[in-house]
Amino acid sequence: MLCAALFVTATHAQKKPATTGNDPLKTQAMADLQAGYADYKKVALQIWEYAEVGYKEVKSSALLQKTLSDNGFDVKAGVADIPTAFVATYGSGKPVIGILAEFDALPGLAQEATPEKKPIDGKNAGHACGHHLFGTASVAAGIELKKLIEQKKFTGTIKVYGCPAEEGGSGKVYMVRAGLFNDVDAVIHWHPGNENAVTMTSALANKSAKFRFHGISAHAAASPDRGRSALDGIEAMDNMVNMMREHIPQETRIHYVITNGGKAPNVVPDFSEVYYYVRHPKRETVIQIFDRVVKAANGAAMGTETTVDYEIIGGTHDLLLNRTLGEAMQKNLEKVGGVNYTPEEITFAQKLQTTLGFKAPAIESAAAIKPIKADEDAGGGSTDVGDVSYAVPTVGLRTATWVPGTPAHSWQAVACGGTEIGTKGMMVAAKTMAMTAIDLFTTPTLITQAKEEFLKDKGDYEYKALLGNRKPALNYRD
Ligand SMILES: [Zn+2]
Repeated sequence: MLCAALFVTATHAQKKPATTGNDPLKTQAMADLQAGYADYKKVALQIWEYAEVGYKEVKSSALLQKTLSDNGFDVKAGVADIPTAFVATYGSGKPVIGILAEFDALPGLAQEATPEKKPIDGKNAGHACGHHLFGTASVAAGIELKKLIEQKKFTGTIKVYGCPAEEGGSGKVYMVRAGLFNDVDAVIHWHPGNENAVTMTSALANKSAKFRFHGISAHAAASPDRGRSALDGIEAMDNMVNMMREHIPQETRIHYVITNGGKAPNVVPDFSEVYYYVRHPKRETVIQIFDRVVKAANGAAMGTETTVDYEIIGGTHDLLLNRTLGEAMQKNLEKVGGVNYTPEEITFAQKLQTTLGFKAPAIESAAAIKPIKADEDAGGGSTDVGDVSYAVPTVGLRTATWVPGTPAHSWQAVACGGTEIGTKGMMVAAKTMAMTAIDLFTTPTLITQAKEEFLKDKGDYEYKALLGNRKPALNYRD
């Protein structure tokens, strides 16, 4: 096993595509993007203000679309039956390079851009995963590549994908299912984070559903015998699933929230709803365990004399990594460098770190670049980029948009995202993505090798969306 791995690395090293010779273009791209910083910061902070949740990102999507069309892109909106999804295209012919842009916020995390917890009253959501930066950096990189194509520095097509509802809505899955990536040679993406690194960590495959129990309502004290509690259905189901945890593979993650447990204790609830996620590094295992969760739901309904039905809400693949592209991206990230803080930002960061409750990494680590990882593991999260990675060779990075130590989905992440700590980190991503795309446009062997690796890793697997044939769950946040 080890020998085989060494052999692959050695072969790789011999055939490494030469991506030099395009350095002046990269220097130009870095300078152009830096010159556009104030404009892109404005776009990102505007989307931070909007903070719209999955499939409701009307204003955020419109702003990114306008930014692209004002810069000469041909924008097709409402793709894959999703009103807020879009594909913006510039150029013609091969290669076709795609860049993913996300822009949805998370419910319940509205927060001021301050280093102490300050929720915003009356506001529903916040950018706790930094997708306002994600969308803006990707648009910025796209616009720079368009400029270079327009100046005839190279030929080909650049496509910016506006991808809604990453947080649980599986937006990209519908876009993959609709064949929107079929003509693309490579896809670049990124994600906000608390360090600068090329992503060589996979993701957990994930399948989610809402289970709805139906019972009979009755006065809970006067005639309880006439009622059949829909909430009992959920409790029996949850109990069975929790016992199941002992008998499933170690790496499995199952979590649920009761989204409707009835309205009043003195009324036997005739309706209840529980929202489940099932995750595991392997999608086959996710499918098997999900089927067992369905059995628990049916068993619970039988025992409580209620009925149950369920709606698949989301489903995403694990992430297929591409080392060829990862190594190319690493060189560019090292050239760009990380994020340096002003004295005011250091004060902000120090204050924020005291709220984390653990010893955070040094603030200066935001300026460092992590070496590329040798081993690939599954990581803890899930992403619908996984489905894109089974359609086309895909490469991504994360950059330090948050103070080192800041976890995703926290108020601290929202706070950082509303400051220049966030927007400076965003520019590291924009530059690195633009430069990696320059490599792809100017080095055909890089694409050939990335495709070889992709086909070898994908094997004979034929893509099948984990969420089946359902229409986009446009109201999953209602
Ligand atoms: Zn995210």
